Amino acid sequence: NQKVDILGVPFSKLSMEQTVRLVSEVIEKDQQKPFHIITANPEIVMGAQTEPLLKKITEEADLITPDGIGIVLASRWKNDPVYERVAGYDLLLKLLEEGNLFGWSFYILGSSEEVNQLATDKIKEQYPNAVIAGRHNGFFRGKEEELIRDINEAKPDVLVVALGAPRQEKWIFEHKGELHTKVAIGVGGSLDVIAG
Ligand code: UDP
Repeated sequence: NQKVDILGVPFSKLSMEQTVRLVSEVIEKDQQKPFHIITANPEIVMGAQTEPLLKKITEEADLITPDGIGIVLASRWKNDPVYERVAGYDLLLKLLEEGNLFGWSFYILGSSEEVNQLATDKIKEQYPNAVIAGRHNGFFRGKEEELIRDINEAKPDVLVVALGAPRQEKWIFEHKGELHTKVAIGVGGSLDVIAG
């Protein structure tokens, strides 16, 4: 089995390398519906216990990776260990590396305008062959339709969503049906880290 159940949340047992390979396959396959990746920490797991929407989101996600040592330990206690921690920030960097090799396109959504701009500039500098198809800050209330149109015109391979957990998971879930992207992944505060 490729998954281990932690309090009802099905966690992937794939290593970081296997996870990146799976994302590559998804991007090559050119599927219509976005492949939703959650890098889930204990807050998501706890939230899924009490909040039916979050529970449904975790049930319908395509891949849930163990973001945090708590999840890794829980899987060991169950004698069904995940391979390793696959945190959002680390996975994002790996996807950018892979994207740099294969020319994947990314849409960078979330964080303040300043952080978003700075992080995008750094990504362009660090991963020059990755295509930045578009970007938008994470404060778009009332302008959501415009934002979704912008994303869909950009048609990114990977939509990077940095709105914090679980806001980003809810946003991806709510808009899955209308987003033209192959992969959507919530990355929490990662843009803040990249911006420095
Ligand atoms: N954020 C956003 N829109 C919002 C609220 C938050 O883009 O409406 C951004 C915020 O600027 C920050 C990130 O979401 O960059 C939240 O990071 P945090 O560290 O709280 O998330 P976590 O890593 O804990 O999921």
